[in-house]
Amino acid sequence: MIEFHRVSKHYARNAAALSDIDLRIDKGELVFLSGPSGAGKSTLLRMIAAMERPTSGTVTVNGQDIGKLKPSGLPWLRRNLGLIFQPHSLLTDRSVLANVMLPLMVTGTPRADAEKRARAALDKVGLLGHAASEPLALSGGEQQRVAIARAIVNRPQIILADEPTANLDRASANRVMSALKAFHGVGVTCLIATHDESMLRDAPRVIYLERGRLVDFPAEEMNAEVT
Ligand code: ADP
Ligand code: ADP
Repeated sequence: MIEFHRVSKHYARNAAALSDIDLRIDKGELVFLSGPSGAGKSTLLRMIAAMERPTSGTVTVNGQDIGKLKPSGLPWLRRNLGLIFQPHSLLTDRSVLANVMLPLMVTGTPRADAEKRARAALDKVGLLGHAASEPLALSGGEQQRVAIARAIVNRPQIILADEPTANLDRASANRVMSALKAFHGVGVTCLIATHDESMLRDAPRVIYLERGRLVDFPAEEMNAEVT
C-alpha cells in the first residue's frame, strides 16, 4: 500500500533529512514511526502526501509513483489519505460540525449527506455531543479528536498522523490514540509518528528513525545495553 524504495531527501543547505529509506507498509497495518526530534518523521509522512518530493528514490502509494504524480493527480491521492498534522488548523469561526463537514462540502457532497456523515465521524471519536460547540471551547485533546473526525470523514484508506498526542496530558493522549486505533480496527492503514515512548508499548510494529536513517533499535535501548 505504501512503499519507499531507496528514498533520500535533502533540504537545501541541510544534512540529509532522510537517507536511503526502504520501507513497505501493507494494507490494514498499524505502524508507529518513532525517533528523536529532527530524525525525519515529518518529512517521511509529508512525502506520502506528496507535500515533499524525494531528492532520489521512489515513493509509491496504492501502486502510484508519487514522484510522477501530475498536479491533477493530487486530489486522487489526497482522497485516499486522512491527514492529522500539527497544527490541526480547525477554523475557529464555525462550529465543530461545520469543521468536520468541510472536506465533504469542498468535494460537493450535498449538505444533508455531509452533515449526516460528519455526525457519524464525530460519534466515532466520542464528540457527537460537541457538534454545535466552537472549537476553542474544547480542550486540546478534544480539538485533536475533531481533527481526526475531519481527517476520516472522507473514509480514507490511509491515515497519517504526525505527533497526534503532542502537548496532551496522558488521559487525553490515550483517548486520541484509541480513536486512531479504532480506525485501524475497521481496516484503515495507519501510520503514526510519535516520540512518546509510552504509546509504543503494545504497538504491532514500530519503525525507528535516527538522523534520517531507519534503525532496528532506538538509541536509548542500545545505550542502555552498553552501560
Ligand atoms: P521530525 O519530524 O522527526 O522531528 P523532520 O522531518 O521535521 O523531523 O526534520 C528532519 C530534518 O529536516 C531536520 O534536520 C529538519 O531541520 C530538516 N527540515 C525539515 N523540514 C525542513 C524544511 N522545510 N526546510 C529545511 N529543513 C527542513
Ligand atoms: P454512514 O453510513 O451514515 O455514513 P457509517 O457508520 O458507515 O455511517 O460511517 C460513519 C463514518 O465513519 C464515516 O462518515 C466516516 O467518518 C468514518 N470512516 C472513515 N473511514 C472509515 C472506514 N474506512 N471505515 C469505516 N468508517 C470510516
